[in-house]
Amino acid sequence: MPSVTAMKKDYGLQKGSRIGDLVVQSVQMQHVVKTTNEHYQFPTVMTVQLNGDGTSTAMAEALKTIQQHLDAPRIIYSEYGSPYECTIGAVQMMSNHADPDHAMKVKFEGKALRRRDIPTLKEVKQKEKEEERQKRGLSANDDQEPAQIAQLKSQGYRVISSHFAGAKCAVCGEVVYPGDKIAKSTSVQHKGGWAHINCAYQASTAASETGDLDS
Ligand SMILES: [Zn+2]
Repeated sequence: MPSVTAMKKDYGLQKGSRIGDLVVQSVQMQHVVKTTNEHYQFPTVMTVQLNGDGTSTAMAEALKTIQQHLDAPRIIYSEYGSPYECTIGAVQMMSNHADPDHAMKVKFEGKALRRRDIPTLKEVKQKEKEEERQKRGLSANDDQEPAQIAQLKSQGYRVISSHFAGAKCAVCGEVVYPGDKIAKSTSVQHKGGWAHINCAYQASTAASETGDLDS
């Protein structure tokens, strides 16, 4: 389940937080297990400081502001990265009168329902990693790479795995990550630094097309 801390943080319900012109004084939020790993409830009592007087009009206005602030459903993750859709029900005043110092107490109940159609944080990170690889022209199951390496070697390129962090590709200028396969021409006519396999391959192909490959 999303922790009480995560719920408070995501909804901006921490001591001193602002909700419109109101200031949160205290939030007592509990959690109730309805169905483990599926459904949780968060009964909550909150005290806010009203801006200005404590008339019933000001209180009704404040109630509306709080309800609007809590209205939209949102996805909050558990500490294991599981997504939950969180909603907050009707906000109710606990008294018809504000305190003498214009503080007002309200109660409401949060609800968290596990969403199995939304990727977990772990899945999101894996996808980002894969997209990062693709951006660098290195698909996880890039079946072109062995053919490109063979082609480069036949043209006298050296091919190794990079061991250095922070190196840059001589062709595209992007970072070469440790473990990436890189290639460098050994021919005198084709001086140049180490480059991604993909980049070196494209450069060598372009060179041979323009008749520049006189090895
Ligand atoms: Zn490159």
